[in-house]
Amino acid sequence: MNIILLGPPGAGKGTQSDFLRDQYGLTKLATGDMLRAAVASGSELGKKAKAVMESGGLVSDDIMIGIIREAISDKNCPNGFILDGFPRTTAQAEALDAMLAAEGKKIDHVIELEVNDAEMVARISGRFSCGKCGAGFHDSFKPPKVKDTCDSCGAVGAFTRRADDKAETVAKRLEQYHAMTAPLLPYYRARGSLHGVNGMAPIAEVTTALQKLIGKKAAA
Ligand code: AMP
Repeated sequence: MNIILLGPPGAGKGTQSDFLRDQYGLTKLATGDMLRAAVASGSELGKKAKAVMESGGLVSDDIMIGIIREAISDKNCPNGFILDGFPRTTAQAEALDAMLAAEGKKIDHVIELEVNDAEMVARISGRFSCGKCGAGFHDSFKPPKVKDTCDSCGAVGAFTRRADDKAETVAKRLEQYHAMTAPLLPYYRARGSLHGVNGMAPIAEVTTALQKLIGKKAAA
């Protein structure tokens, strides 16, 4: 099964794709996470992407399509994938369709997390993650059970906040979403694969709505 999650920054794509990965045994492909890892490693890709990411802009389609071409291989995604942060432009969506068609594969569900933009800045400014295992948290909506301690891996004092989660950069990222990524909604609607889920509901309710949409099957 192959799934795309769409929605602006802060909509909850990362949180919900962790659930989809665990529940359905899918491989989570989060292009933002891949780019951040490349920046942290100082690779050529990371050097190219760093400034663009910090400005809230989009990394070039060529680079992103190249990354996904490698990532969606059967070897990497034996049970299928969940895409978080890709495609972000029409060119990326068309390239993905072509790659999948060439291998006789398809996207089963494109799910938009429907949210109110005005709330996204507040959501994003409160979020942080574990630098060790990547688990996501939020000051108000999902605080760690024990202060400074990761619920998932137990690391202490390892929380980090993203450089591009500053208010002014978030505004630019939202603008990019509406200009470049929102046109994918009619693109997928026209193909009959788009479904909307209310992303303003509490995390567990969004998860339940996704589960209803996709089906009950748990990971084998
Ligand atoms: P995210 O973690 O999905 O919010 O992505 C963080 C940043 O990485 C974005 O603001 C972009 O600069 C870059 N990025 C991630 N995915 C893509 C993509 N598919 N196309 C272009 N840029 C991307």
